[in-house]
Amino acid sequence: MKTLRAFIESLCSEQCAGREPGSAGGRAARALVLEAFREAGLEPVEQPVPGCSGANVLAPLRGDQDRWVLVAAHYDHVGQSGKHIFHGADDNAAAVAILLDVAQALRSRPPKGRGVLFAAFDSEEMPHFQTEAMGSEYFARHPTVPLDTIDLMVCMDLVGHAVGPDEAPDDVRRSVFALGAERSEGTGVLVDRLARSEPGLIIRRFDAETIPPLSDYWGFWRREVPFLFLTNGRWRHYHTPEDTPDKLDYPKIQATARWLERLVREACARPEPSVRFLSGVRDDASTLRSVIALTQSLEPLSPLAAAARQTAEGLLRRCDGKGRLADAERSALQMLVAQLESGLA
Ligand SMILES: [Zn+2]
Repeated sequence: MKTLRAFIESLCSEQCAGREPGSAGGRAARALVLEAFREAGLEPVEQPVPGCSGANVLAPLRGDQDRWVLVAAHYDHVGQSGKHIFHGADDNAAAVAILLDVAQALRSRPPKGRGVLFAAFDSEEMPHFQTEAMGSEYFARHPTVPLDTIDLMVCMDLVGHAVGPDEAPDDVRRSVFALGAERSEGTGVLVDRLARSEPGLIIRRFDAETIPPLSDYWGFWRREVPFLFLTNGRWRHYHTPEDTPDKLDYPKIQATARWLERLVREACARPEPSVRFLSGVRDDASTLRSVIALTQSLEPLSPLAAAARQTAEGLLRRCDGKGRLADAERSALQMLVAQLESGLA
């Protein structure tokens, strides 16, 4: 298989032309994904998504049990505008490369327990978001394995870049944000245990409600499938022609692939017969602890960070025993996260 970087560059080539669903570029990207799955030793199938004239690519790796961990990344992007190609290196070629790298690693040494279904979804971007023309939503409506046999859906989006400005400290740059672990039994404990297991990477948990559900996990969350959303957040090149492969952080991408491989192995081998979705749970305390850690590191760079950290510490003290803030205080938390996100973009 190509290296992660070479694969990202091929998805961002002129030939793929921004990978718009249903376009020649979208088909070229899909051919690359199919070929890479085959090279990894899997048997990928196309699932046509009629509403966008595109298709999902699904590659199962059967396990000892008839239950699944689904690992997903969308491979489409927004195409072209005039002569400008939107290459979408961070959104979402990097994640697709990680998906294929993990597929290859798990195929050559299969995990114990559950099977793994690898999904490269089409049509995540506007205008199809949250309709049947969106690849992941189409899959959720027409699943190839019963949704109630999926014990974890891992969704990656925007996982190719270092977090924050160039001068930000390493422990900020190496962050990957993990959302939604609180929504299923035992998943938060698993993610916390592995948070610093991969050199060069720190996994920081946030509650799923911290940001609007603008990626492929949305349809699974809604259907109460346990999920985990991995993202490095939006950066300044988000949805511009400047989102190109030369700006990505390749050591971090490599580390993310190894971390994800470990997570999937552990999720496959979990001893429970099934993983329970937890509705009505919210974990503001995890979000606040992540905000505090990040702002602490950013303090030498920005006076705003110190103020944000104090606000976060005050809010953390007001969480109840289950880690929840009163509804009236949640807007303060959301403002804090929005500030941090724009500071890090
Ligand atoms: Zn995306």
